[in-house]
Amino acid sequence: METKTGPAGEVIAGSVRHAGRLITWIENGHPDTREVLRELAPHTGRAQLVGVTGPPGAGKSTLVAALIGELRGQGRTVGVIAVDPSSPFSGGALLGDRDRMLDAAGGDRGVFIRSLASRGASGGLAAAVNDAVDVLDAMGKDVVIIETVGVGQGEFDIARIAHTVVLVLVPGYGDALQAMKAGITEIADVVVVNKGDTPGADRTTKDLSGQGFERTGPPGTEPWPVPVLTVSALRHEGVPELVAAVDRHHGFTGSTRWRTEGERARRRAQFAARVADRLRTELLDPAGAALGDEMLADPYGAAEAYLDALLRAHRRLTGRHRAGPEPGLEKP
Ligand code: GDP
Repeated sequence: METKTGPAGEVIAGSVRHAGRLITWIENGHPDTREVLRELAPHTGRAQLVGVTGPPGAGKSTLVAALIGELRGQGRTVGVIAVDPSSPFSGGALLGDRDRMLDAAGGDRGVFIRSLASRGASGGLAAAVNDAVDVLDAMGKDVVIIETVGVGQGEFDIARIAHTVVLVLVPGYGDALQAMKAGITEIADVVVVNKGDTPGADRTTKDLSGQGFERTGPPGTEPWPVPVLTVSALRHEGVPELVAAVDRHHGFTGSTRWRTEGERARRRAQFAARVADRLRTELLDPAGAALGDEMLADPYGAAEAYLDALLRAHRRLTGRHRAGPEPGLEKP
């Protein structure tokens, strides 16, 4: 592969400083971001992407620190992107988490941790996370962990960027248990009942594993039985078993259309975000794309006509339009 120079070359060579700056560019929507990401693209696609999601206080940050320890012990390098969708700015509440994780990393060069916010990235947070994942991937991190608070659809969309989604829950009964089941059905490839050192954890694990949750992938692929594991992130108990379960899922999906369809969905999202971003910039700039007075008089009608023309051009460009559904892009 040709040797890159400049910011992309520095990132590929593993420069923490350049990777950090590039992620800041991504957050802020810096105009040069696009070009650097383009140069990084051929160097991506190698990292194993692991999502860690769950309600606030479930112990995600503690678990991520434990995962870092376990993975480093196995000689694997780790990148972490900690996402806080509720906060438009990095820092704040997240800083505590980040410090804790950095503590766990203990100045280890094999670990790179960043919190992510999307101040300027008009493509939205999921697009920014996709791009940041590519940066850590191109840097050569073996495993990239995406940590996000899972409370709603938007957050689940972020978790879906990962190859394997670990849903972190805590012991609970009744309504809490019902809510957990909904979350599992929605998103989980692997379920962790964390705080396994507290009463009721084993009971919750038993209740949940008794449900026989499965994930179904694209047609022609076997369903994946979702494992439910009791873990104590605080005491590092069950963490090796968790890593083994994540690796098993990664191996299970890796050789099938499951993975290729997932990757295609991710690349499609990146494409759409880039197009939307650029189009928005052009159209909002009075000195950019010319819009006649008649268009401005009827913005909705004009927008429809504009999009129709754009999609006609798209069809000419690609020779296809609505080529039929791409099955399996959505997890059920
Ligand atoms: P997050 O909001 O999901 O990132 O949760 P944190 O990692 O910040 O943890 C929330 C609280 O739960 C903290 O006080 C942790 O010390 C505690 N905690 C995390 N994991 C465990 C565990 O395995 N056992 C117990 N007893 N407490 C834990």
